[in-house]
Amino acid sequence: MTLELAGWQHTYSGKVRDLYRPTDGDDDDDDVMLVVASDRVSAYDHVLEPGIPGKGALLTTLSRWWFDRLPVANHLVEPQSLPTEVADRAMLVRALEMFPVECVVRGYLSGSGWVEYQKSRSVCGVALPEGLKDGDRLPEPIYTPAFKAELGEHDENISYERTIEIVGPDVAAELRRLSLEIFTAASTIAEAHGLILADTKFEFGRDAGGTIRLADEVLTSDSSRYWDEEAWLSGHRGQSFDKQIVRDWLKGHWDGNGTPPQLPAEIVERTSARYAELLDRLTD
Ligand code: ATP
Ligand code: MG
Repeated sequence: MTLELAGWQHTYSGKVRDLYRPTDGDDDDDDVMLVVASDRVSAYDHVLEPGIPGKGALLTTLSRWWFDRLPVANHLVEPQSLPTEVADRAMLVRALEMFPVECVVRGYLSGSGWVEYQKSRSVCGVALPEGLKDGDRLPEPIYTPAFKAELGEHDENISYERTIEIVGPDVAAELRRLSLEIFTAASTIAEAHGLILADTKFEFGRDAGGTIRLADEVLTSDSSRYWDEEAWLSGHRGQSFDKQIVRDWLKGHWDGNGTPPQLPAEIVERTSARYAELLDRLTD
């Protein structure tokens, strides 16, 4: 069941967000859209029960905080006039023509990148030096795009050459340039707060005037892996500020078949606290 919002018509629900268009939609060029972040949490491409209370608001606050600080055009429409019911977890944005590319940047070796590195000494086709360990910093951040799959399908890692086929050489180059630029700027800001930005995913779209804009959520715990710098330096590299707690619990309590089990209250609370801690740390 999607929330009814006066003046807005629900058009799409992803695993985490619900999108709305104005009901009195005229055909002016600056078409707008309401992106409402829910408390839903997904892991291994499944939406889990129950949600994480406050997650939608936390992630929305975090995205806004980052949009304010990043040196690139974004999709926010100002001033924001939001339905009061969802004001803390909604963003009024320009409806963009989205590029079906997830612009992943990795500054450190982790997760699927680490798994792949052990087999091939490369990540998504990018060759890396020998002898790196799980959690190591890469010589420089690498761009490893993925094809954005339709709802219910898995995103698929693709080569840079493949992104050229999908969006053309100019856009492909611009998405890579912007992604690396934003990642570097964000890493510097995160480090000033004792946080390491290990990797993240951006999405971009084009507005009616042809400008490429940073869209979706940005640098949140759902789209990024942050680590505590002190813990990392002392060799404790396991715990991030994302849904690792949920993933770890699920791994131990579910074989991956059928519907995942309900998350226990303790896991929900710890995840919620971890998401809140990231926001506190960054914005203190
Ligand atoms: P999944 O359920 O697989 O996560 P999803 O990532 O598509 O799918 P959500 O992230 O929950 O789902 O929903 C947000 C959707 O809104 C995404 O499809 C995203 O590409 C899209 N989106 C974000 N910003 C804009 C924008 N400014 N204009 C148009 N679409 C946007
Ligand atoms: Mg998404």
